[in-house]
Amino acid sequence: MPEILEVEAARRVLAEHAVERDIAKVYAPDAWFLKRGTTAPGLRHALVGNAFVAARRRGKQIVLDTRDPDVRLGVHLGMSGRVLVDDVEAGDPLVYASNRRVSRWHRFGVHFADGGSFMLRDPRRLGAVELDPDEDRLGPDALTISAAEVDAALGQRTAPIKAVLMDQHRIAGLGNLLVDEILWRAGIDPTRTPAKIDAAERKALHRAIRNALRTLDRRGGSHTGDMPRDPDQPCPRDGAPLVRTTVAGRTTYWCPVHQH
Ligand SMILES: [Zn+2]
Repeated sequence: MPEILEVEAARRVLAEHAVERDIAKVYAPDAWFLKRGTTAPGLRHALVGNAFVAARRRGKQIVLDTRDPDVRLGVHLGMSGRVLVDDVEAGDPLVYASNRRVSRWHRFGVHFADGGSFMLRDPRRLGAVELDPDEDRLGPDALTISAAEVDAALGQRTAPIKAVLMDQHRIAGLGNLLVDEILWRAGIDPTRTPAKIDAAERKALHRAIRNALRTLDRRGGSHTGDMPRDPDQPCPRDGAPLVRTTVAGRTTYWCPVHQH
């Protein structure tokens, strides 16, 4: 599924190939895909004759700015969304065997006046598009977060640290796979509460966020972590059997020996 690294890859494709092209038509056949009051007529009114001028990202949200400073388009890839510009896709094609170009999975898009297009393909339909997204509800971006921002995000909260790290209001961009990998790297038990996590551990956590994102991006995506998500495989660090459990409502893998 797209995590922050895949969303950033999609953003780069949009920034390079979807900007400064006049929009001739909006394709919005699926009202379910339009969120927070956004409608197909509203999208047409906002986008036809307009053009994207920049593609930004905060966490897993992409924001497309347009020539009209009052019009911004928010794009969420959800669990299975892909960006296609001129029929070329961005994201992590390695993960999905079923990466077929099925147009009934095109949930939203625009046709450019030059004949090209930008389409969002989403088999599972869990992505979304909205006009004028509220960008302030998101925490600092995980790709650029500082140690002080990690410290502030944790605070003295009493929820499991995994839940806090996945809360997009606290830190924007970390999903299930990345949080398990990060906590495994930092040696922190996912069920512990931030209130009991000391300053040295918080620094280790910040380093683990930075290193995990950098390393996995270089390797090709969120699925290339060092911790196997498989209870039949030992922890690569100490050989202990990994534990599979549920934390914060999500399937969680962790090592009971070096994560505490
Ligand atoms: Zn271990």
